[in-house]
Amino acid sequence: STGALFYYFYGSTPDAPTTPLTTIPPARNSTVVEGVDGLIGNTPLMKIRSLSEATGCTILGKAEFMNPGGSSKDRVALNIIRSAEEQGILTPHKGSTVFEGTVGSTGISIAMIARAKGYKAWIVMPDDQAQEKYQLLEKLGAHVQKVRPVSIIDKNQFVNLARVQASRFGDDKRVGYFADQFENEANFYAHYQATGPEIYQQTQGGHLDALVLGAGTGGTLSGLTCYLKARVAHLKVFLADPQGSGLYNKVKYNTMYAPTEKEGTRRRHQVDTVVEGIGVNRLTRNFDLGRRLVDDAYRVTDEEAVKMSRFLVREDGLFLGSSSAVNCVAAVRVARQLGPGHVIVTLLNDSGQRHLTKFW
Ligand code: PMP
Repeated sequence: STGALFYYFYGSTPDAPTTPLTTIPPARNSTVVEGVDGLIGNTPLMKIRSLSEATGCTILGKAEFMNPGGSSKDRVALNIIRSAEEQGILTPHKGSTVFEGTVGSTGISIAMIARAKGYKAWIVMPDDQAQEKYQLLEKLGAHVQKVRPVSIIDKNQFVNLARVQASRFGDDKRVGYFADQFENEANFYAHYQATGPEIYQQTQGGHLDALVLGAGTGGTLSGLTCYLKARVAHLKVFLADPQGSGLYNKVKYNTMYAPTEKEGTRRRHQVDTVVEGIGVNRLTRNFDLGRRLVDDAYRVTDEEAVKMSRFLVREDGLFLGSSSAVNCVAAVRVARQLGPGHVIVTLLNDSGQRHLTKFW
């Protein structure tokens, strides 16, 4: 028998261990999902031990890096494509191409879902992002078009160019569809209808005091803010803004550098920064949807973000990307402002693996 064999090799029986066995926790999710899109969302909410201990607060990070495409943008890409399908614009396997202007994460998510659903992906990106993003996009079969980082008023800016490329097919969106994450409300709704309810449930019915995160398109910030503030009356929301972004000013003073403003301001693309994915200098539809409900904002420097990322690896074994590090810096500041005993939720958007050649 197995017991006798075990005894022969190990000198004891398996049901009578001399030291207690380590227990392996049960699987988080025991149901079968279908396809890569079945892996999107339902991410864990993780207590960040080091930051919680240091502040006396409970600091929780939504582990969005666990999505199959490696970031929270999987939710957005899936919802944008699904809503275009529901409107009858996109039909799988009919030769349609999805175009997007992105600094990377959304492109990777679109490329992955396009493959899974039978579309082509054409991704326009600034050429100063971490190298592994371009490599990943190419491996996923996307067409990658790199452009110089320029202002939004320039027709060669990556978002503008993606829109123009899609319109090369005339008015037929069924052939060339521009995903338009900055303006497309399907981005907001991905978070309003899924990420927000998940956080609400994971905090036992909204037991949280503050929400802290940065904004690129603003879809995450607005979607979560609108969903959670409607249910948690005392909730405070804080923007975490990186170097060179104008969103801090928009939240604090309701002014932002207009794209046509001539002097005195450096645009996001002109600021030398290692933080990717958050911070812009214009008011996008998805940011606008929730910005009036944002209570306050914090500026976070690259240096602080880098230090935080190294700290989290050392203390928690948590290897994060740059925007997650910015979020964690701001989460600690909010904890210090509110004082011990509060529950603070932030977003861990992607892993450091996608930032090896730049941030790391
Ligand atoms: N973190 C990363 C890594 C991202 O790529 C993005 C989106 N560009 C964000 C954060 C910000 O999310 P949102 O676009 O919803 O503001």
